[in-house]
Amino acid sequence: TLQDRLAATFKSLRGKGRITDADIDATTREIRVALLEADVNLAVVKDFVAGVKQKAKGSELSKALNPAQQIIKIVNEELIDILGGDTRFIRFAKQPPTVIMLAGLQGAGKTTLAGKLGAWLKSEGHSPLLVAADLQRPNAVQQLQVVAERAKVGVYAPQPGNGVGDPVQVARDSIDHARHGLFDVVIIDTAGRLGVDEEMMRQASRIKEQTRPDETLFVVDAMIGQDAVNTALAFEQGVGIDGVVLTKLDGDARGGAALSIAKVIGRPIMFASNGEKLEDFDVFHPDRMASRILGMGDMLTLIEQAEKTFDAEQSRKAAEKLLGGRGEFGLDDFLSQMQAIRRMGPLSKVFGMLPGAGQLKAVSEIDEKQVDRVEAIIYSMTPAERADVGILNGSRRSRIARGAGVEVRDVNDLVNRFTEARKMMHSMGAMMGGGMPGGAQA
Ligand code: GDP
Ligand code: MG
Repeated sequence: TLQDRLAATFKSLRGKGRITDADIDATTREIRVALLEADVNLAVVKDFVAGVKQKAKGSELSKALNPAQQIIKIVNEELIDILGGDTRFIRFAKQPPTVIMLAGLQGAGKTTLAGKLGAWLKSEGHSPLLVAADLQRPNAVQQLQVVAERAKVGVYAPQPGNGVGDPVQVARDSIDHARHGLFDVVIIDTAGRLGVDEEMMRQASRIKEQTRPDETLFVVDAMIGQDAVNTALAFEQGVGIDGVVLTKLDGDARGGAALSIAKVIGRPIMFASNGEKLEDFDVFHPDRMASRILGMGDMLTLIEQAEKTFDAEQSRKAAEKLLGGRGEFGLDDFLSQMQAIRRMGPLSKVFGMLPGAGQLKAVSEIDEKQVDRVEAIIYSMTPAERADVGILNGSRRSRIARGAGVEVRDVNDLVNRFTEARKMMHSMGAMMGGGMPGGAQA
């Protein structure tokens, strides 16, 4: 399966100290094969692989993660992106009833979904009405009535004995019925055919015209793989759809449809159905699906935590030293803080985002070249000098200046400013009265 293949791919990265471009190429090649085997659309695969490659090569590698974790993180992010990014919820009408129309091929799972959606909406405090606008298949109306009863929601169906009836008329009438009966959501179940067919599209279009749905959902059997994408395209062109519902995910071992459809047709997957029972249904969450495909829920949690802990630990250490009043904050800490800030973007931008920073004279003076010079000076110092600027006598200062290719005056300048800044931070620490972790013992 896709999970197994990806897991094997990541395994080969484990234990590596750093990733080379060759590693990235080999890994993305494997991922490409894995996706194609899972029946993912070729265009999507290409996009995906290019995205992963670019991110992997371009990224400033995070110290918090090992190489395998870094690649997994990138793959996970790309997966979420391809699956549609953020979860998309139903847009309810400002003026009830909200109209939801279901369209799709016969056997896709529309009628079953009408019940699931109804039960779910009801549990969310709505009062849904299921509408039987499939008058094509014998028993279709009765099937919907059974489903509605099971879901304990309302149902609207043409009166028996009135002939075949017009599904467009039924759909239109149902909205008045909902208004009078105080139903706030109308779910219209329509007829499908075995294949894409003009008459079916025409009927669906007419129902759509007459009921002006807030959401037109295309329901598709995930097990049909690539055909799901083609059918979706046909419905998007013939009827126009707002979102996709994937059904029978319980039987879909390969995951190809899920991974292709949102990207190819540019419409989000909104719900997923994974079984025949009413409760086998959920709002579709791209991030959860991605972690299911990766089969690495625990690993992803670990990665998130590692990053959080690392960041928190770094800042805590620095803050503790800086505000601790014990003079431990050295130029090394200063350097790593400065570099951490630089990784966030151009300095003028970063500082510009700080509240009140605009008024500080120092900020308007920030210039990248000067920061480069400061880095060079610190790099020319020995560890002992970085830890304690107090030992910097004249000969040390001129040695450092030579090493950094600057004037002694520049070294003096840095040392003075650093000492000033540290003094200021110490008094701030004292002011905070040790409110910070490991804060000043004033
Ligand atoms: P419609 O023609 O689009 O209305 O499709 P139906 O709702 O009648 O469903 C067709 C068949 O698929 C029925 O036997 C359902 O029980 C089954 N079905 C629907 N959704 C799912 C699902 O998520 N998982 C599984 N395993 N079966 C499903
Ligand atoms: Mg049906």
